[in-house]
Amino acid sequence: MVRALEEILAQTKNMVFFGGAGVSTESGIPDFRSVDGLYHQKFKYPPETMLSHSFYERHTAEFFDFYRQKLIVHGAKPNAAHLRLAALEREGKCKAVVTQNIDGLHQAAGSKTVYELHGSTLRNFCTRCGKFFPVSYIEDAAGVGDGVPRCDACGGIVKPDVVLYEEGLDEQTMENAVNAIRRADTLIVGGTSLAVYPAAGLLRYFRGENLVVINKQPTSADAMANLLIHEPIGRTLDPTDPVEG
Ligand SMILES: [Zn+2]
Repeated sequence: MVRALEEILAQTKNMVFFGGAGVSTESGIPDFRSVDGLYHQKFKYPPETMLSHSFYERHTAEFFDFYRQKLIVHGAKPNAAHLRLAALEREGKCKAVVTQNIDGLHQAAGSKTVYELHGSTLRNFCTRCGKFFPVSYIEDAAGVGDGVPRCDACGGIVKPDVVLYEEGLDEQTMENAVNAIRRADTLIVGGTSLAVYPAAGLLRYFRGENLVVINKQPTSADAMANLLIHEPIGRTLDPTDPVEG
């Protein structure tokens, strides 16, 4: 808990939170972009390749093998950051959460207005008939035939509603995010270095008073921020954490 941030939160009437992988790492979800030795031992290609649209098209079974092992997470729970943002929404202060994460933890914490720029592993649709399937359907396809999940109604491939490399973002989601940021008096950027498209671009729409950046590493928005916090985001947003600053 940071006094200067609490003062901003006490004043704000229209706050938007923009978050990245750092919000989920504190729930034990690894950032798949931080390539570790395991990738090289276990998989033939870097994650950016295996999570690309062309790889999904050409090596569908391998895609789902990687996807199940690296993108579907088990037993992760919302942390103090997710819970505080949900509470701020209930108080009428937080108007939207814009996230690059695909784990559904903001909704699990109780947030209602969540714009998921990169989609969600919790939603999966048949590419032929559009039928919805839960994440368990993707998991259960492991070891059945070639491991590619197929629709029980029409036999089409069931594809996660996750934006792969080479794929465009959902236009409506982007528009909603832009409109929320444009209207905000306070924008909190947390757990993202802003290096991943379109994060840095979205910030350009912010016209409000307070830009808060919470990230352990430097970001491209640090120079614009009027409050910069280099602390873990869970502790920073935890109202029960001892006050600092
Ligand atoms: Zn189908």
